[in-house]
Amino acid sequence: MEKKITDIFGTLVFDEDVMEERLAKDTFRELQKTMKEGKSLNIKIANAVANAMKDWAVEHGATHYTHWFQPMTGVTAEKHDGFIGTNQNGKVILEFSGKELIKGEPDASSFPNGGLRATFEARGYTAWDPTSYAFIKNGVLCIPTAFCSYSGHALDKKTPLLRSMQAINKQALRILKLFGNENVKNVKTTVGPEQEYFLVDKKYYEQRKDLIYTGRTLFGAPSPKGQEMEDHYFGTIKSRVQEFMNDLNEELWKLGVLVKTEHNEVAPAQHELAPIFSTTNIATDHNQLTMELIQRIAKKHGLVALLHEKPFDGINGSGKHNNWSLSTDTGVNLLEPGDTPHENAQFLLFLCAVIKAADEHQDLLRLSVATAGNDHRLGANEAPPAIISVFLGDELAEILKAIEEDRPYDSKEKEVMKIGAHVLPKFPKDTTDRNRTSPFAFTGNKFEFRMPGSSSSIAGCNIVLNTVIADELKEFADILEKAPDFSSALHALIQGTIKEHKRIIFNGNGYDDSWVEEAKKRGLLNLRTTPDALPYFIKDENIDLFKRHKVFDEEEVHSRYEIMMEEYVKILHIEALTMVNMAQKEILPAVSQYSYDLAQTCAMKTEVAKLENVYEKETLKDVSALLDKAFKATKHLDKVLKEAEAIEDFEKAAFYYRDEVIPAMSALRTPCDELETLTAENVWPFPTYGKLLFGI
Ligand code: ADP
Ligand code: MG
Repeated sequence: MEKKITDIFGTLVFDEDVMEERLAKDTFRELQKTMKEGKSLNIKIANAVANAMKDWAVEHGATHYTHWFQPMTGVTAEKHDGFIGTNQNGKVILEFSGKELIKGEPDASSFPNGGLRATFEARGYTAWDPTSYAFIKNGVLCIPTAFCSYSGHALDKKTPLLRSMQAINKQALRILKLFGNENVKNVKTTVGPEQEYFLVDKKYYEQRKDLIYTGRTLFGAPSPKGQEMEDHYFGTIKSRVQEFMNDLNEELWKLGVLVKTEHNEVAPAQHELAPIFSTTNIATDHNQLTMELIQRIAKKHGLVALLHEKPFDGINGSGKHNNWSLSTDTGVNLLEPGDTPHENAQFLLFLCAVIKAADEHQDLLRLSVATAGNDHRLGANEAPPAIISVFLGDELAEILKAIEEDRPYDSKEKEVMKIGAHVLPKFPKDTTDRNRTSPFAFTGNKFEFRMPGSSSSIAGCNIVLNTVIADELKEFADILEKAPDFSSALHALIQGTIKEHKRIIFNGNGYDDSWVEEAKKRGLLNLRTTPDALPYFIKDENIDLFKRHKVFDEEEVHSRYEIMMEEYVKILHIEALTMVNMAQKEILPAVSQYSYDLAQTCAMKTEVAKLENVYEKETLKDVSALLDKAFKATKHLDKVLKEAEAIEDFEKAAFYYRDEVIPAMSALRTPCDELETLTAENVWPFPTYGKLLFGI
């Protein structure tokens, strides 16, 4: 029997309806106010909420609760505590206090903190983010929280995200006030992240150490069929996968995640899931939950989900399209062109803020998505390129050009485009963007940032987007608030911004080599790898920017920089070790045995029938030559790795891994992949690309 979505949606969420039903009227109203205004909760209200939350959770089968938070490792963390306690008479009771709701103290001293917490104050505390609802997962009441040290430094991804949302709220409100929108009390950024992933059969996965340890294949020759037929894209979904998706959707709906679309992607075995957008902190929580559930539910169906950015060489990688916009508490999307000249002017100003931010902060946008995994997509002949540019579509680009050049928008009109006096021509949303190669595209009423990697938290890129755009809005507000004549100042500001920052606008093909040349001429940054990009984080101007908007202080920037560089090093270290291990323990012995078999067969055939044995002899020669090459490459990788391990400075280490370890890894992979194509199928020690990609 088909369960109706509306019956199950949000059943495991302590949402507004549940609160209204279970809390006293004044408690509910007080909590609502706190949530809307982002104020902190008083203990009386917290106690009442905690009690209602506990009763509700217990009724839904929960026995434990946890402060659910997002440490800098990218995954989510939880430490479970039981509701169980005893009263004065030693009788078992279930308890959960307001204090426990609003503040937790996980002994989480081993999370990476980039030197922020000295060992004597090893504990941090977690604090409830009441704007994100509590939910039940695996019988545990999860309370979404932020994680800080006692000195107030953020130790997670949620805290700076909330700070960046506050920053953009403040500046956007100043702009709206200038346009006379006094009734708007709150501006929130909205995000809809589209999640890509691969599914492989669990029985094949389990035979590959590279997938188990690193999430991607470190060896593997291309299968005879790849993605060239494009027959997977939007193709019919296989029944086993469909069952997994139904199950996944249902579980996500119960958790209040608005997943809406699902389809196959271009690459074989690749899929995508998109939610309906929500407020950024909630979208971030939900995306973390989505990634966790994709993996958990896949296992139930005998599948393994790969969230890695590049699980297979020669096959499209996976990203996470971060659809971003701004919306008011009165329900207006600030990136949606309006119907009146006044609304259009406001839209154009917000649009210009995004364009200027993208141009001035290419470095921050790029580094917000920089990871070892994502380096395989960005700057490696795959969508999108590592160069930041903005796609506007021909029509909008043409309008901006008309404004810039003080001329009419189309030939039929006589008057020049004047901000605040002209209505923008309507452009049908669907024609705005089918350009999939742009890293940052305006898609009618939002921007789609396509660079984030599939396994990353979207907190990082949204912290940057919110902060850099807040800074431009601040600059605009500073100018306009002082202007004697608003209209002419606005026109000049928009025109000036277009003139100064039009180099970032690019509507062409971002995969094209000629774009790399053109971008260079325009003076745009091309930061191909993670160690190229990350050092921009600690530039004085960037530290000042984050300080100005109270998103990060200087120590937080430095600690995060250190953590991200170290993460890059750690990932490559594990990958290189895994390659050496697979070569030594699996590939080399298997191929050696195979060449022995060939030699034996050859000798026997000669002895018995004096045959020529061309196949055996030629193959033996080729295989032996490659085997020696692979052996030498293994030795070399091992040596380089030992040198890398000895480097203490994390910056030096990151560059060493990029310049020495990665090339040594490729040098080992090449002969091994060739060996795979030359040896018999039953000899190869682990499942091939064919099985992984087409084996479900
Ligand atoms: P596609 O990228 O395939 O064209 P859509 O444009 O329909 O798909 O939507 C992509 C994503 O953008 C969805 O997750 C959707 O919820 C999200 N989205 C739509 N409007 C907004 C908005 N105002 N703010 C943030 N995300 C949005
Ligand atoms: Mg998209």
